[in-house]
Amino acid sequence: MKFATRLLTFDPVPGDRYTPANTPIYQTATFRQENATEFGEYDYCRSGNPTRSVVEKQIAALEGGARGFCFSTGLAAITAVTRLVAPGEEIVACDDLYGGTYRLFSRILAKRGIGVRYVDFSDLDIVAAAIGSKTKLVYLETPTNPLLQIIDIRAVAGIAHRSGAVVCVDNSTMSPYLQRPLELDADIVLHSATKFLCGHSDVMAGAVVVNDAELGDELYLIQNGEGAGLAPFDSYLLLRGIKTLSLRLDRQQSNATAIAEFLDARPSVSQVYFPGFADAKQLRIHRSQASGDGAVLSFVTGHPELSRTVVEATRLFNITVSFGGVNSTISLPNYMSHASIPESLRQLKSIPRDLVRVSVGAEDVEDLIEDLGQAFEFAAQRSRDSKVFGVAAD
Ligand SMILES: *Cc1c(COP(=O)(O)O)cnc(C)c1O
Repeated sequence: MKFATRLLTFDPVPGDRYTPANTPIYQTATFRQENATEFGEYDYCRSGNPTRSVVEKQIAALEGGARGFCFSTGLAAITAVTRLVAPGEEIVACDDLYGGTYRLFSRILAKRGIGVRYVDFSDLDIVAAAIGSKTKLVYLETPTNPLLQIIDIRAVAGIAHRSGAVVCVDNSTMSPYLQRPLELDADIVLHSATKFLCGHSDVMAGAVVVNDAELGDELYLIQNGEGAGLAPFDSYLLLRGIKTLSLRLDRQQSNATAIAEFLDARPSVSQVYFPGFADAKQLRIHRSQASGDGAVLSFVTGHPELSRTVVEATRLFNITVSFGGVNSTISLPNYMSHASIPESLRQLKSIPRDLVRVSVGAEDVEDLIEDLGQAFEFAAQRSRDSKVFGVAAD
């Protein structure tokens, strides 16, 4: 079956004697046992719940993996993966990471005796030099967020596996519709399912998928033992969101491509970051491992004040952190999603202060472009009136 069919074709309620056509919310903390000495398939909701099992199976199937685990947030999923690393062992991570992941790695894991090295994953020699005998986990995002840099998953996995390290890819910006890291030799794929998988900015969730049985058993022990599994109602919302993943992304992606082209043509935009606009080498890698460019893009204007004015002058783009929802959003990552660590302490690639990130929604693209156009015109007028930007914006 093709992907869009698979999104809608799965057993919604394994074993339910009423055979409902849609997955019910099994809103219960416990399950009655047949007798005092034997457990049934489910006993306690932290350990397992039928609604969560359906969505975990579905995400695993879509990522081409054997087992899936859903967590209360994306960061809970990332935390679970970091539990695979023991004190004294190390993580090698790409230096263009989601701000919350960096906060977890640098401020919480450090205290547990887990070292993290941040290196530029676009240079494979640097990656090879950074991975050592203590390296347990190699961690990356591609395309990165918010600079949309491309990392070669197969090549990194090849290098990591030579040293026996486990490779984890945060696939939140692409979703399994556009990129399936397990098929590219990664060992673990994870998601902030809050983003494209849920797609409606109405629930927080995380997911981890693996193929290896031993890794699967370890992750189940962590999910059950630490108690951050996804609740039944949130599992239901996530499952409902996933059904329209390809429908939403087809529309959002074509809107994003049109907006990237619109921005690229504006004199006051100095650079647009979007996978399709990457340099030839990065573009070739991206095309070889993903089937689309997604719906997140960013751009710089050269002037933080100009960027802020454009962001605040839009009417259809909500100023919010996060991305991947059906509503368009706009943000200044340096001040919002990536502000959790002071610039001076960051070991990551620095994010330009004038960087604007746009998550393109499913609205009519003509309205979106018209709105961005009026926001740029407003900013240009302000700049002419006050000369605050020190330049004539277009
Ligand atoms: C949002 C995000 C996370 C964290 O997920 P939450 O659901 O917010 O906890 C992790 N990785 C990436 C790439 C993200 O965008």
